[in-house]
Amino acid sequence: MTAPLIKGYCPGALRPMMSGDGLVVRVRPFNGRLRRAQADGIATLAAAHGNGLIDLSSRGNVQIRGVREDSLAALINGLGAMSLVDADADIESRRNVLVTPFWQTGEETEGFAAALSDALALPDAPRIPGKFGFAVDTGRTPVLQTASADIRLERDAGGGLILVADGFDKGKPVASGTVVAEAMALAQWFVDLRGDHTRMAALLAGGAALPGGFIVPRQRQDYLPRPGYTPLGAMVGLAFGQLEVKTLASLAKQGGLRMTPWRMLLVESARKLPKVRGVITDPDDPLLRVVACTGAPRCAQGLAKTRSVARSLAPHVPPGSLLHMSGCAKGCAHARPAPLTVTATRDGFDLIRQGRASDAPDATSLTPEDIIKAI
Ligand code: SF4
Repeated sequence: MTAPLIKGYCPGALRPMMSGDGLVVRVRPFNGRLRRAQADGIATLAAAHGNGLIDLSSRGNVQIRGVREDSLAALINGLGAMSLVDADADIESRRNVLVTPFWQTGEETEGFAAALSDALALPDAPRIPGKFGFAVDTGRTPVLQTASADIRLERDAGGGLILVADGFDKGKPVASGTVVAEAMALAQWFVDLRGDHTRMAALLAGGAALPGGFIVPRQRQDYLPRPGYTPLGAMVGLAFGQLEVKTLASLAKQGGLRMTPWRMLLVESARKLPKVRGVITDPDDPLLRVVACTGAPRCAQGLAKTRSVARSLAPHVPPGSLLHMSGCAKGCAHARPAPLTVTATRDGFDLIRQGRASDAPDATSLTPEDIIKAI
């Protein structure tokens, strides 16, 4: 298997990453939300300075693809004018905050997310590594437990706030007024002890013992993200988390957009969406059962055209299962094990059951037809 190139940082707007189709400029919406004007503005900027394609990342971010180097300054200026850019690249790198999309105006969630972002921008904020992140999951029940985060804010079964270190099944009771300070203290604890670790769960799995107070059982998530109408608006899916600028502009006409880590957007207050090209509204659409990275040719490391292969495999993936199609062993689209993972190699495709893209394969050198028979 060819070793993937690890770049060692998460791209942002101020630290874009070069890909096979130009620069990838990642916008991190503050508090997990884009106002209608911001979403429309991103669509306009991406059309002017990128190749017209936009990705939704598994961290709830928006990636403008295909940006030309001579367009970058104008793009960043445009994003800055809409208050979508941090003061500097280090702050941007630290501000890795996922927010439950199901908050109501006036609830604490929005305030926690804003206060956490402010704390991460302070000069004395913990120097966390780039992939380290936070989840503000403070609705009545958790919905972000399967998404990547290292420090989580959740509620216990009685509705009390708890601070959670990812990888540990109990949380620390905290008060609303001190929750952000407690989160920063836990982040600093991680920084002080981490050694070579970049993620909380790995540090704990390596034997590190949390400070005292993590004694309250966490609730277990039973939420399964699906397109459909919710009391807060319409949840819509985007195949492979990618959309064209026209699709984003059309959605922006319907309402503000709340980001999710599920290749879906929540269109605020939408009760009856018109048909929008490229948007999945059927919760049984087979394309919701596949995830696929950018792959070749847009990613320089891609060893196959991941998305066209994934489209052909999707109808064969059983309902309730998930197939992760990866263009190389790096596994960008799904960092966790999946029921089925297909990894492109120089000799065809590897099939891995219940594993990650880099795990030892159950079968090698397969064609797409072989994979259909195997699943
Ligand atoms: S997993 Fe996909 S997107 Fe990530 S480096 Fe490999 S080919 Fe590129």
